[in-house]
Amino acid sequence: MTDSAEKAAEQAGTVEFTQNIRQLSMRADTVDDAFDETPGTAVLLCKDNGSRKWGPKWLSQVSLQATVPSDPSNALEIVRSTTPDLVFVEATLVGGSGEPVYRTLLDAADVNTRVVVLCNGSREISAALGAGAFDVACKPYEWQAISHRARNAMRLNSSEASLAASNEALSEAIELANTARETLRSQQSFEPVTGLPNKSKFIDLLRRGMRAVDKDRGSLAVIVVGFTRFRLVIEAMGQEQADQVLTEIGQTLSGCLRDTPQPDAPESRRLRTAVVATLDQFRFGLMLTNSGGEDELAHLQQLLLDALSRPIQVSGQTVHLSACLGLALYPQDADDVDSLLQRADNAMRDAQSRGGGFKYYCAETDAAAARKLRIEHLLHEALDRRELSAAYQPIVDVTSNRIVGAEALLRWRQPDGTVVPPDEFIEIAEESGLMIRTGEFILREACSQFRDWQDRGLGLPLICVNVSKVQLASGTFAATVRHALESSRMDPAELELEISERGVLAGDDDVISQLHELKALGVRLSIDDFGTGDSAIAYLKELPVDVLKIDRSYIAGLNDDEKDAAIASAMIALAQRLGLFVVAEGVESISQLESLRALGCDAYQGFLFARPLDPDAFALRAADLR
Ligand code: C2E
Ligand code: CA
Ligand code: CA
Repeated sequence: MTDSAEKAAEQAGTVEFTQNIRQLSMRADTVDDAFDETPGTAVLLCKDNGSRKWGPKWLSQVSLQATVPSDPSNALEIVRSTTPDLVFVEATLVGGSGEPVYRTLLDAADVNTRVVVLCNGSREISAALGAGAFDVACKPYEWQAISHRARNAMRLNSSEASLAASNEALSEAIELANTARETLRSQQSFEPVTGLPNKSKFIDLLRRGMRAVDKDRGSLAVIVVGFTRFRLVIEAMGQEQADQVLTEIGQTLSGCLRDTPQPDAPESRRLRTAVVATLDQFRFGLMLTNSGGEDELAHLQQLLLDALSRPIQVSGQTVHLSACLGLALYPQDADDVDSLLQRADNAMRDAQSRGGGFKYYCAETDAAAARKLRIEHLLHEALDRRELSAAYQPIVDVTSNRIVGAEALLRWRQPDGTVVPPDEFIEIAEESGLMIRTGEFILREACSQFRDWQDRGLGLPLICVNVSKVQLASGTFAATVRHALESSRMDPAELELEISERGVLAGDDDVISQLHELKALGVRLSIDDFGTGDSAIAYLKELPVDVLKIDRSYIAGLNDDEKDAAIASAMIALAQRLGLFVVAEGVESISQLESLRALGCDAYQGFLFARPLDPDAFALRAADLR
């Protein structure tokens, strides 16, 4: 194979095929070698003087070097030790056992030398040939003829052997080629881990499915199956276990399609095809032709969600996944394979951003998905081009109105001046695996800014950094924090990490143990957006936190919504009972601040005091107040 052909084959995932071809060509080389005529050796065992004289001479003419032992009685040892290609032996020569020497040679299992018997008459000839002699010669011994005949016979013999070898090599070659073709075909069509059709095979099947439903005016449904937090789970558990999870999911999906009943309506009794495929490491695809309408799809949707919500056991570990399903219909939603699959995928991503569940494709889904994809792409670049920065919002003591801290908030200004709000891109960073880098950036940035302010004598007590659930779940977060503190020469007590109550504190043992690990470093921990999740209150006593930040939705209604006011006051009382520091978020008016003061809230932040500021503006503001 040429280099470029080899490269192309390897790129196409055909490494195994290429290796097989290499093996084949090596085998062909061995076959060729067998046809080469190389000088040979012979031993002459005879008492006849003429033969002892002329034999070696004529044999040397056909490239056979002959030795003539003076004592041929120990013939067997001679042959064993010299392993000649040919032995010429007189039929009348008898060994110590009384047996003709040629028979002893022919019977010895370890002797592979060809034996030519020099005979006296026809009886000896048939006995020798009957015993398996390679050839015979008759008196008078004409050594010129005997030599050529022996050489020709050797040649014939070795070409027969080569032929047999090449036949064998040929059938092996065919077998290898078949295996290679099979491997190639299955690599091209099936995903090795789950054994399910892969994406290109799925697309092929979709195309065929579409043609089939076109004929009998049926319809075809595509469902893309994904999961929330899946990337995290997969990355955290290691490849082998991740593969088991994927295999298990594949089997569950296949089981669901098997269990979907055939619709009863006579018009829908058309040929039904159902396919499950692996689209990539994180997504599966389902195709169902002639799905029998909305009822049946609703039934299937429930079946899938139920089945996929069951925990998966892998090597003693329990994995909880939350499935997201996106559905698009042919011909209603798209009329070609690519758009159909893309639309089902967009619907799945939409379900993903809602935390799971089922989503039918609709046109708005597309626009939202397109924007998300664009942002994901741009965020990659933004991280490399340092388009991200931090703004700092002062946290202020309710009674003294002195700045007691600063909350670092991510800002992303694109080169054209567009500002993307963190609420929008953080979610995308979390879903696309960019949150770890983004989170590391803001942590380092905030710590080094704090160091800079301290070096300039700002005297700020602490800096607060928001932490995403994705960072907490990564398992390496505590190490990242330790590193950031060390490189900014910070006292751990000068750093406060804010963890949103939403989603993260629902009794997740891993997260709770991460929080303890962080606490052990000596940093302060706060629960952000308190009141927006539904779990923290129940766990509050067990969580190693120091601060509660009351979500701004309660502060907004503090003075005109009785319920909000009651909740805010209860939260503050609860925090005080637990010895926690309370911060009110989103304070926009003096009356709100006064109510908070009356309730005994410790600190606040909000537009009333300052919007998030760039580092220099923050420093000026802080200096003003000293
Ligand atoms: P958050 O942590 O609750 O941050 C407070 C948000 O409220 C900030 O929005 C801030 O600008 C805004 N805010 C402050 N005072 C007022 C006020 O008086 N009225 C109103 N209406 N809003 C006020 P921002 O900067 O847009 O950030 C939004 C959210 O994005 C943050 O909410 C936080 O959840 C997230 N975020 C921002 N930066 C980071 C970050 O570095 N890491 C992570 N994981 N999340 C971040
Ligand atoms: Ca916050
Ligand atoms: Ca908040």
